[in-house]
Amino acid sequence: MASTKSYAAQSATASLAPWTIDRRAPKPHDVQIEILYCGVCHSDLHTARNEWGGTLYPCVPGHEIVGRVTAVGDHVKKYKVGDIAGVGCLVDSCRECDNCKNDLEQFCSNGMVGTYNGQEKDGSGYTLGGYSKSITVHEDFVLHIADNLPLEAVAPLLCAGITTYSPLRHWKIGKGHKVGVLGLGGLGHMGVKLAVAMGAEVTMLSHSASKETVSKIKSK
Ligand SMILES: [Zn+2]
Ligand SMILES: [Zn+2]
Repeated sequence: MASTKSYAAQSATASLAPWTIDRRAPKPHDVQIEILYCGVCHSDLHTARNEWGGTLYPCVPGHEIVGRVTAVGDHVKKYKVGDIAGVGCLVDSCRECDNCKNDLEQFCSNGMVGTYNGQEKDGSGYTLGGYSKSITVHEDFVLHIADNLPLEAVAPLLCAGITTYSPLRHWKIGKGHKVGVLGLGGLGHMGVKLAVAMGAEVTMLSHSASKETVSKIKSK
């Protein structure tokens, strides 16, 4: 165990405030990461405020995590100390169901484990997220990040980015396609940038005329 600084909500109405948590020592397949950046996803707010119900307190949100590997378990081959690594919305799943075997762990039939407010499979309690200085995660749920990227900009790709990248890839978006993005929020601006990068003609739809200029800049 290692004590780690974090920001936690102690109740649905409390602001996030400093709190010390314990992270497990790396097990054979674990990667320990010093968190350098963590994006702010609206799910973090919904969970901290218990707007979806079921929030366990104290709650440490954050599932757009980028950091540096500080230790690895004995059996970890894919990562070494010093690597830049990321963690997204989930940190475990059963690995045995059809969805897990088809690389769709997010749809695990036995329940994937969220990066925060999820139940650890080993019964050790509920998960605490990336608004903290360090996290220990099974290597199967850690991602390699190139160290020449601006890491503060990489962090939001771990949730908002993949959420919008996934449907664009699914529909094989590219040159000759027209894509409409409804709303230029956290996900919307990712959608605009990704669809433009894929070569599509992108139209942004919004209630707010003031976002017209912003969307022109974002799409460059
Ligand atoms: Zn998210
Ligand atoms: Zn599964």
